[in-house]
Amino acid sequence: MALQAPVGTSDLLPEESLFWDKFKKTAFEVFGRYGYLPIETPLIERTDLFVRGIGEATDVVSKEMYTAISGENLKTLIGGGHIKSSSRLSLRPEGTAGVVRAAVQHDLVPQGAAPAKLVYAGPMFRAERPQQGRKRQFNQVGIECLGAEAPSVDAEGIIMLMRFFETIGIPYQSMHLLINSMGCEHCRPVFREAVHDFLAAHVDELCDDCKHRMETNPLRAFDCKNEHCLALMASAPRITDYLCEECKEHYETVKSYLNAADITYIEDTTLVRGLDYYTRTVFEVQVPEGTGAQTAIGGGGRYDKLVEEVGGRPTPGFGFALGYERCVLALQAAGLEFLKPQRCEIFIACVDDSTRAAAFKMVQGLRDVGLKAELDHQGRSLKSQFKLADKLGARLVATLGPEEVESGIITVRNMVNHRERKVDWAKMKALLLHFGGKPFEGTVATAAEIFGTFDEE
Ligand code: AMP
Repeated sequence: MALQAPVGTSDLLPEESLFWDKFKKTAFEVFGRYGYLPIETPLIERTDLFVRGIGEATDVVSKEMYTAISGENLKTLIGGGHIKSSSRLSLRPEGTAGVVRAAVQHDLVPQGAAPAKLVYAGPMFRAERPQQGRKRQFNQVGIECLGAEAPSVDAEGIIMLMRFFETIGIPYQSMHLLINSMGCEHCRPVFREAVHDFLAAHVDELCDDCKHRMETNPLRAFDCKNEHCLALMASAPRITDYLCEECKEHYETVKSYLNAADITYIEDTTLVRGLDYYTRTVFEVQVPEGTGAQTAIGGGGRYDKLVEEVGGRPTPGFGFALGYERCVLALQAAGLEFLKPQRCEIFIACVDDSTRAAAFKMVQGLRDVGLKAELDHQGRSLKSQFKLADKLGARLVATLGPEEVESGIITVRNMVNHRERKVDWAKMKALLLHFGGKPFEGTVATAAEIFGTFDEE
């Protein structure tokens, strides 16, 4: 059998790859209005970055992270040897840790400077059990705002995420925005202790994972998917009863900004999110209809301790990530179909082999000014070249015979309204020159500018 893509991964074929491109561009455009600039960080990072940043006891780090190992190091390990910690690499399971590492490494948030606002897009890797909306390689778009602790940053981030979802076509009514506060280093330990004591009092009712979580990281029990644990956690202590005055005020102010912006939200005191670095605001956007069991299309929150955790100066942070694949599911539930890409605007057909060289040159000239031009590469008959042009979506077809090459007058046919127009190749060349004929400078000419619109005849 022919080899298949690894379980939990998928190919983005041209139609979807173009959509992913548009999705990213839209995100960068919308977030750009809020001052976010693009950043790209490596797909592999030192394992200890994730262990320190995300937390050793999270599922993402303890169970789901892929280790990347060179052949040489693998041999050393198999032979019972040790490799140094700087050689222990992992495929990134999320984007925040890498962006924060880059911000510290390149001092992107000098003291007293405006906050650094960064946006990224790309694949993340988690060895999860694959199902609809849950992949082992998936794409995220995310933002990080580093250097400001005001609640307006949190509210601005949540608002712009909702705006983005609406811009790409997810109906506002289909989205549930859940928010909560996780408290800070002062009030959370007391809450954590209360949850630990609650779990200890119900230890016989817990799943094995939660028994373990109770000791390592009791708040993770709120994330447990086990039905019994879920039901039990509904009566667990609530963070909102434990927030210190500062955290309470921060949370209230975030909500007041959301209210003022007419953003509807649900306060969910069981929302803790899967990563350890969050402080204060956490939020998640869910689309319950059409996305299957995995309803969260995006989420994030504040992480005021993470920068220090990875070795930087104390720097408050806020960020979120949204999952491309789950957005597609939500969009498909709302009727999205990928557009069929147009491969070719003008096709140059050759009557016989004698005109191939002229056609080849003409096609190149048209491509150089930005048109999608194509010719036959398979020795097809003229009739079959017309069929191919149609298949490729060409709106215009020019046929080159020895006569056309000789006279330089070419007939261009509009395949939609079947109108024809004679084009003087010499004049056209002048036009092409006028448009510069420089590849890599973007589209400089349209088919209508070169060949006319064919409407007036
Ligand atoms: P997280 O980094 O876990 O906060 O996830 C942020 C968003 O990424 C989620 O809301 C999902 O939309 C998406 N996501 C997380 N894990 C997966 C996965 N395994 N497969 C597909 N999308 C995912």
